[in-house]
Amino acid sequence: MKSRPSFPAKLETNPPQKLVKPSSPLSWVSGSSSKKNSAVPSAASGLGLDSSTVRAMMVKKLAEGGVEDEMVLNALLAVERHQFLDSALANQAYEDTSLPIGFGQTISKPNVVARMIELLRQGKNLKITGKLGRVLEIGTGCGYQAALLSHVSQEVYSIERIKGLYERARENVRPMRLGNLHLLFGDGMQGYPSGAPYAGIIAAAGGDNIPDQWIEQLAEGGRLVAPMSVTKGSQSLVVIDKTPAGIQKSVLEQVNFVPLVSGVL
Ligand code: SAH
Repeated sequence: MKSRPSFPAKLETNPPQKLVKPSSPLSWVSGSSSKKNSAVPSAASGLGLDSSTVRAMMVKKLAEGGVEDEMVLNALLAVERHQFLDSALANQAYEDTSLPIGFGQTISKPNVVARMIELLRQGKNLKITGKLGRVLEIGTGCGYQAALLSHVSQEVYSIERIKGLYERARENVRPMRLGNLHLLFGDGMQGYPSGAPYAGIIAAAGGDNIPDQWIEQLAEGGRLVAPMSVTKGSQSLVVIDKTPAGIQKSVLEQVNFVPLVSGVL
């Protein structure tokens, strides 16, 4: 693991950003990549649409499905999900589905990723208008969620236990030049103490409980969002807020994530 560059630990520094949502979500793409992407053949390209248009359609559906945080929606518009997938699967990149990314792992469904990042940004002591401070993701996988997080946070550490996936994620994000995203190879069960305290911790893999280290590494006012087995064979999203009065835990909807496994591969 590389050591953390020095920067002040702050939960919130950016001035509130006013993001104006135009009436037609299709016009939101004006700021995103305009290059035609041949890697997204899809039904849509058969209709003469490029990847930004298909992505805008996905984001429109997510917004209609209840995702409200405009910074999250803008990140979903900006990050090209098809770049994180095998070319054979690129045509499904903008469907609301999880897909294999190799090594027995999956990229999460866009609506689950959006929901989790939105929840992360609603921590009690965080304003939802600005960016999050420093964030830790456990389970980089192909790097998609990490790239999204880099758009809504000041600094992101993302840790992956499978070397091959860590390397693939590095390849995936390199051309995106996300200077505030740090990918790490290691066991995320331990968190990443060198980057602590975190304004937000988000896990893309679920165990039987939330490791104590994660809670220790959360800043006061910070929020943790993770899948966890609450009853045998069933996983739910768990939200933990570290408040001045103590830890507050809520159990939300059922989810279906790959298992959180200790050790590296
Ligand atoms: N956020 C990812 C989802 C990847 S799936 C994406 O956007 O694609 C979850 C990932 O968690 C898998 O790659 C798995 O290897 C990883 N994982 C499971 N246990 C882990 C641990 N203890 N430390 C780090 N990564 C872990």
